[in-house]
Amino acid sequence: MNLHEYQAREILRRHGIPVPEGEVVTTPAAAKAAATRLGGSVVVKAQVHAGGRGKAGGVKLAKTPDEAEAVAAKIIGMTIKGLTVQKVLVVPATDIASESYLGIIVDRESQRPMLMVSAAGGIDIEEVAAKTPEKIHRRAIDPRYGLLAHQALALGFQLYPDVTKARAAAAIMQQLVTAAYDVGASLAEINPLVTTPEGKVLALDAKIVIDDNELDRKPAIAALRDASAEAPAEVQAREAGLTFIKLEGSVGCCVNGAGLAMATMDLVKYYGGDPANFLDIGGSSNPQKVVNALKIITADSNVRAILFNIFGGITRTDDVANGIVQATGQVPLKVPIVIRLTGTNEQEAMRILKKAGFDALTDMDQAVQQAVAAAGGAR
Ligand code: GDP
Ligand code: MN
Repeated sequence: MNLHEYQAREILRRHGIPVPEGEVVTTPAAAKAAATRLGGSVVVKAQVHAGGRGKAGGVKLAKTPDEAEAVAAKIIGMTIKGLTVQKVLVVPATDIASESYLGIIVDRESQRPMLMVSAAGGIDIEEVAAKTPEKIHRRAIDPRYGLLAHQALALGFQLYPDVTKARAAAAIMQQLVTAAYDVGASLAEINPLVTTPEGKVLALDAKIVIDDNELDRKPAIAALRDASAEAPAEVQAREAGLTFIKLEGSVGCCVNGAGLAMATMDLVKYYGGDPANFLDIGGSSNPQKVVNALKIITADSNVRAILFNIFGGITRTDDVANGIVQATGQVPLKVPIVIRLTGTNEQEAMRILKKAGFDALTDMDQAVQQAVAAAGGAR
């Protein structure tokens, strides 16, 4: 579950991390009032579950309350990565001397939380990771001890030669680790961590993603969910009991089982296509799930072709076939569909599909190639 910046910075603040004050508002007039209270020069920031807001025009400086109102009027209602901005955060503008990066992810290789720090923060950390990975310093955290003071300080010196700033950064790193554990974060990032001309070290942006498996035992965190800011398809999928993640490509994928879904996405990429989503209809074979899945996929205007890839084990492929027939009856398809089915009750499934006018394949490679071609061909 994604948190908004204003929620994430509140968590950081609770753990002692220096975060500038700020107010969340939903109207330009309220942004003006907030800017007046905050003392004039402010930054107005779109609150959406997307990174790169700055580049998308969702983070803007305003020198006066009137400007804050005008800027907020532009940002509220704009779309960033398919998400409409409903709220903005108004913060006092900070003078920036340097921008660094701090982040914690769960690292599969070391099977531990991994703290990453870089003096090359602010902009695309992904680009730094890809082009100059030596600029990112890492430390796997032993969950028994957390981040120890000397480990944090060593990383602090990777950011700042000055001991006072290095110490301040080290304290923030330890607080960030504690905060990430406390809320059950699968990702916790401060980018940028800035220094000011006076030598203060501050968190200017915060991003926290909560591990969904933590939500049941952390009701206060679960209550932070803002369904109105989530991709409508993801909300719909969650309510329908489907595991769905929207992606940017054009091949809509409907698959049973997370492993097969990932293998399918890999193969779509391998043949030059881009998946429009990850969608796992699960192991059971309930035609209604297929109906819901197809509704969600077809609602995405990026989708140029739909690929069903079903391996029938516990899942009965004839149930999936019935689901496809029912769903396409309810929601007529506007794009080509490629169906690959194999396993339990395969013959019956083929019969059902044929009767309804669909072709189906049993070979996964063939099906993926056809779907990529139907979506407009390889990149
Ligand atoms: P993101 O693009 O979604 O990561 O949003 P950020 O909150 O990180 O803002 C993007 C960039 O805007 C930062 O890297 C800063 O360079 C700039 N920025 C944000 N807040 C301030 C501020 O208070 N003062 C100044 N001078 N720049 C800011
Ligand atoms: Mn940022």
